[in-house]
Amino acid sequence: MGGKEHYHGEVHEEPSQIATEYPPPFDPPLSQEMGMNVSNVNTLDIKPKFREIPVDCQCSYCHKYITTTTFFKTGTLTWIFCLVFIFLGCWLGCCLIPFACDSLKDVVHQCPNCHNKLYRYDRLKK
Ligand SMILES: [Zn+2]
Repeated sequence: MGGKEHYHGEVHEEPSQIATEYPPPFDPPLSQEMGMNVSNVNTLDIKPKFREIPVDCQCSYCHKYITTTTFFKTGTLTWIFCLVFIFLGCWLGCCLIPFACDSLKDVVHQCPNCHNKLYRYDRLKK
């Protein structure tokens, strides 16, 4: 007889396995040793740089914010250059050149308010 081949292929798999496997808690990989300390903090130089030009700063005497007045004074470097000129045989006036050259002299910063000497910029010292 014409029997129908009834294929009862019941492929019915129950997804009984509910994915309960969560990924394990993420371990941060050895981040402790990677010192995240940024030790590169800029150390603020509070002191203004006293050079050849007037500087805006607070006077340590009258505590006012002033712009220093500068003038040149004969310093160590001036004398050294003077001696160098003398050793080179420049007796007649040449040894006086350093005294006329401001770039060889120390720079004195003065407070215009109380006229106290705030700083002396020595050419030999950095
Ligand atoms: Zn002052």
